[in-house]
Amino acid sequence: MRLQLSPELEAFREEMRTFFTTQVPQEIRDTVAARRDLTKDQYVQAMRTLNAAGLAVPHWPVEWGGRGWTPLQMHIWREEMQLACVPEPLPFNASMIGPVIAAFGNQEQKERFLPRTANIDIWWCQGFSEPDAGSDLASLRTTAVRDGDDWVVNGQKTWTTLGQHADWIFCLVRTDPTAEKKQRGISLLVFPMDTPGVTLRPIQLIDGGHEVNEVFFEDVRVPAEDLIGEENRGWDYAKFLLGNERVGIARIGASKRLLAQAKSFAEQVTAGGRPLAEDPRTADRIAELENELLALELTALRVVAHSADGKPHPASSVLKLRGSELQQDITELVVDLAGPLSLSSFADGGSEVPDWARVATPEYLNYRKVSIYGGSNEVQRTIIAGTILGL
Ligand SMILES: Cc1cc2nc3c(=O)[nH]c(=O)nc-3n(C[C@H](O)[C@H](O)[C@H](O)COP(=O)(O)OP(=O)(O)OC[C@H]3O[C@@H](n4cnc5c(N)ncnc54)[C@H](O)[C@@H]3O)c2cc1C
Repeated sequence: MRLQLSPELEAFREEMRTFFTTQVPQEIRDTVAARRDLTKDQYVQAMRTLNAAGLAVPHWPVEWGGRGWTPLQMHIWREEMQLACVPEPLPFNASMIGPVIAAFGNQEQKERFLPRTANIDIWWCQGFSEPDAGSDLASLRTTAVRDGDDWVVNGQKTWTTLGQHADWIFCLVRTDPTAEKKQRGISLLVFPMDTPGVTLRPIQLIDGGHEVNEVFFEDVRVPAEDLIGEENRGWDYAKFLLGNERVGIARIGASKRLLAQAKSFAEQVTAGGRPLAEDPRTADRIAELENELLALELTALRVVAHSADGKPHPASSVLKLRGSELQQDITELVVDLAGPLSLSSFADGGSEVPDWARVATPEYLNYRKVSIYGGSNEVQRTIIAGTILGL
């Protein structure tokens, strides 16, 4: 099956591909291609390169740097970025708090935050989840109590991704513990991570990396003007934000790239004197994943074609569910291709084990997260059952 784009969209794809493969520093793209962690500086440099060309926040309102593209153009932009190994604009900035401030912030907040958010002059982190509030987010217990011109915040957040790099946090807090429905008493506050009373503690992960943190708040004073939108309406903003988070989470371009890499790894590894790529079971597994990925891509295109109003489509849950399963299947394939070589996870300089095999196991382990964050896959199934299947 061939996907045929109009000549205009083909030209658009070419324009994106040329930019991503020529303007974003090769050393950053090589780090992504090698599936190594990026430094903070690399992230910032990549996002600023995109922002200078108007390619960091194309989905924002035009007056704040958006491009007014169609959903199909957005899809092509994202896919070409992933295929070219360009780090995507920091999601906390570009897909989460930016669109929320643009939609619900006051004019002063828009002017103060949006240009710096698009240019990653502020690195944001997401303070939603708590130890007893993940899937059931509305149970969150971090409180904010009004005291004069300030809110005073106490509580704890967890799983705060890349909080160690963050300048500011956007945080769901309980401002009305007496509200009849727990969703009604929640507000959205933003504050700098170096405010007195904020403490960050790293969570050590099974892959050896430091990606997530716990964040503690003890009598953190936040000026009243740093409440976004209306008091006690934070749940509406959180739902808006989470809907945006799920769009693009299928990472089809990134999976295509990894699967293409896996095919080349299968050429390099031999079993019984022949490349694994010639082993019928391996070839069958790769072909099946390619077909599944193509099916997901067609679904994604159907979804974007029907989301002309720019709102997240309920089927984004299908994309999240299937996209995360395929990402996990492909990382598992790479571990199997590496075989015993995948045991040398942390081997460094001087090792004869190829680089791709050294990162295979840590990446496989790291990718367990994709079926949890952005709403776990069990929760996505419930959404699909209710909103699509009408069960
Ligand atoms: C790597 C990583 C990064 C993250 N980054 C951030 C971040 O930056 N900021 C942030 O705020 N949060 C972040 N999260 C948190 C993430 O949003 C939560 O982990 C997620 O919402 C699940 O919540 P939980 O971990 O508390 O699990 P729980 O909600 O306790 O769920 C445990 C298990 O029960 C299942 N389950 C729960 N409820 C139901 C139900 N109603 N029906 C069926 N099954 C159910 C879940 O699917 C899961 O398998 C991150 C998580 C990970 C893993």
